[in-house]
Amino acid sequence: MSWKEWRAVERGDLAVIGDPIAHSLSPVMQNAALRHAGLSWGYQAVRVPLEEFDEALGHLAACGLWGLNVTVPIKEAAFAWCTDVDPRLGAANTLDLRTPGRGTNTDAPGFMDTLAELGVQPCRAVVLGAGGSARAVAVALCDAGFQVALHNRTSDRARALRGETGLAIEILEEPVLTGGGLVVNATSAGLGGEAPYVAWETAEPGALAYDLMYGPAQTAFCEAAEARGLRSTDGLAMLVAQGARSFTWWLDIPAPRQAMMRALDEHRRSNR
Ligand code: NDP
Repeated sequence: MSWKEWRAVERGDLAVIGDPIAHSLSPVMQNAALRHAGLSWGYQAVRVPLEEFDEALGHLAACGLWGLNVTVPIKEAAFAWCTDVDPRLGAANTLDLRTPGRGTNTDAPGFMDTLAELGVQPCRAVVLGAGGSARAVAVALCDAGFQVALHNRTSDRARALRGETGLAIEILEEPVLTGGGLVVNATSAGLGGEAPYVAWETAEPGALAYDLMYGPAQTAFCEAAEARGLRSTDGLAMLVAQGARSFTWWLDIPAPRQAMMRALDEHRRSNR
């Protein structure tokens, strides 16, 4: 995928910023959405290291960029720039540089959009991980009436998440799934091709295994869940859902989600 260092950007409209950024699929789906909507704006991928966030934001705004998606590792810095994001989330992934401090987090509602599409009703949900996305998922699930249990390999971090968000969640010392209708992998284990350890033998029949990770092939977590007879889904639909919400938040028009998913499918096929 093509991308630029932030200092090399001379002009633009929309972009995703983060570090690393070369792997981001956001330009594929957002440029497809802009084309589908008949808009001539462009969306690019720009590398911004965490320690250069403030300087980079000033430069990009001066180059005319006005809408940003923000990814790892600068979602927390983006949250600090924002004045109106739910403090329980502690992270922002969408900014509007035209209005100082205006930002939002579309990961949490995007995740819930995909659950609604899968027909998942409030139930006991086990969330694996205690990073930014586990936090967004836990907040969104609790707000929607799910009973959330959280397991992280470093359990102090799970407790810190509970303390910082004030959520009424159970902390699991072991990744047991008993009584759960949903298990969400919000760890980054998949980035190394691994699945986090799960006591799959405790899974309820018919439970859904949801991996936030996605890739050209089935993820290790989905593979492990399906080997135990569970349904599974990866994070591609969430990528589209959060991107669609960002698109609508910037432009105030509906996002062409099918065109966005089609562009990603084509990209995925051509990279197999
Ligand atoms: P963070 O770096 O904030 O957190 C990573 C978490 O994974 C930590 O809790 C860490 O545990 C845990 N972890 C890492 N390696 C392992 C391992 N081998 N076994 C068990 N646990 C492990 O990551 P994010 O929350 O930002 O992202 C998590 C995942 O979600 C990534 O794969 C990312 O790509 C995906 N994601 C997908 C989105 C989508 O739109 N589909 C949106 C956002 C994220 P510890 O605390 O012990 O280090």
